[in-house]
Amino acid sequence: MKEMYLEDSYLWAFDATVEEVFDEKVILDKTAFYPQSGGQPADAGILIHGDAQFQVVGVQPSEGGIIHILDRPALKPGDRVSGRIDSERRYRFMRSHTACHILSAVIFQETGAKITGNQIELSRSRVDFSLESFDKARMSQYVEKANDIVGERHPVMTKILPRAEALALPDLVRLAMDVPDREMIRIVEIEGVDRQACGGTHVKNTGEIGKIKMIKAENKGKANRRVYFSLED
Ligand SMILES: [Zn+2]
Repeated sequence: MKEMYLEDSYLWAFDATVEEVFDEKVILDKTAFYPQSGGQPADAGILIHGDAQFQVVGVQPSEGGIIHILDRPALKPGDRVSGRIDSERRYRFMRSHTACHILSAVIFQETGAKITGNQIELSRSRVDFSLESFDKARMSQYVEKANDIVGERHPVMTKILPRAEALALPDLVRLAMDVPDREMIRIVEIEGVDRQACGGTHVKNTGEIGKIKMIKAENKGKANRRVYFSLED
């Protein structure tokens, strides 16, 4: 199983071969469909086989590979298919996901707070972090700072490093979440801003994000804070 979105997050169309089928669930030899994981929703789109077109209604990670859930069964192992990603939806997730990295980096730099989670949606996204004292006015300053970074147009790069080498990078410890238990770790670097272990999809340049708009900031328990944001084009 080759995860094509790890190498090129702008790959909206690809050809593949069906490897396994369970009713309407299909595993391909390679895919550009991003599975629901790491706070980023699954891609939507279609698989085409001959004259037949199947809606991809869900994409899930599994030990045996990425499972594409289709609107109906019919494919069989060995079938050649073409995949088409709903690029408008995915591009929005890429922009929001990259915005989460920037916001997390600013919150960490300004407060030392570790990031405990994030959830991306089409209309809004959120970042959770662990912090005792909390000030909404200050939070909106952090969002402004994040917008400065967006406007500075920093390149976003990915590289894959052996685990020991990745863990030796000083900034990687900021996430409260664990670095994945893999031999090779994918590092996503926003030049001059942030470096994280991440298997998600990102834009190539922070300028593509547009503008981050804070919707609200709230307390979720003693040291749990949450900020919601949306993106303006
Ligand atoms: Zn990421």
